[in-house]
Amino acid sequence: MELTATPIPKRRRLNGTGLETILDFTALLTLVLGGLASLGIILFADVAGFLLFFSVAIGSFLNWLLLRSLAELIRLQKRIVGLDYAGRISGSYDDTVPTCGNCGAVLRSDVCCHGCGARLLKPDADGCPHLPNGSTIQ
Ligand SMILES: [Zn+2]
Repeated sequence: MELTATPIPKRRRLNGTGLETILDFTALLTLVLGGLASLGIILFADVAGFLLFFSVAIGSFLNWLLLRSLAELIRLQKRIVGLDYAGRISGSYDDTVPTCGNCGAVLRSDVCCHGCGARLLKPDADGCPHLPNGSTIQ
């Protein structure tokens, strides 16, 4: 008997470069090129070049700000409608930091806590901290 099958449409995600990413890259490129151009002007121009220096420097900064703002607007609109977006929306965001299990202070090293002085234990591959003698902390 011949093996048969029917085609079933299946959704899949195709990841492409978002416009917000291109705008971010262009903004950074504009800022770098403007900074280099303004440095070139200040190095090779005379006193009258100061006005041109400030004009190019401020212009490149404003171009960077405009392009970053456009990228941010695209990200916000994509987030509102529930689409994925590249990059990060500016402003405050949640982050995960390691804290001491004894006093709750944010850890600045992996050896000991600077808040209470407790020595930090390394979790094994199973995620459970072990004492130096091999016993597991409950
Ligand atoms: Zn502590």
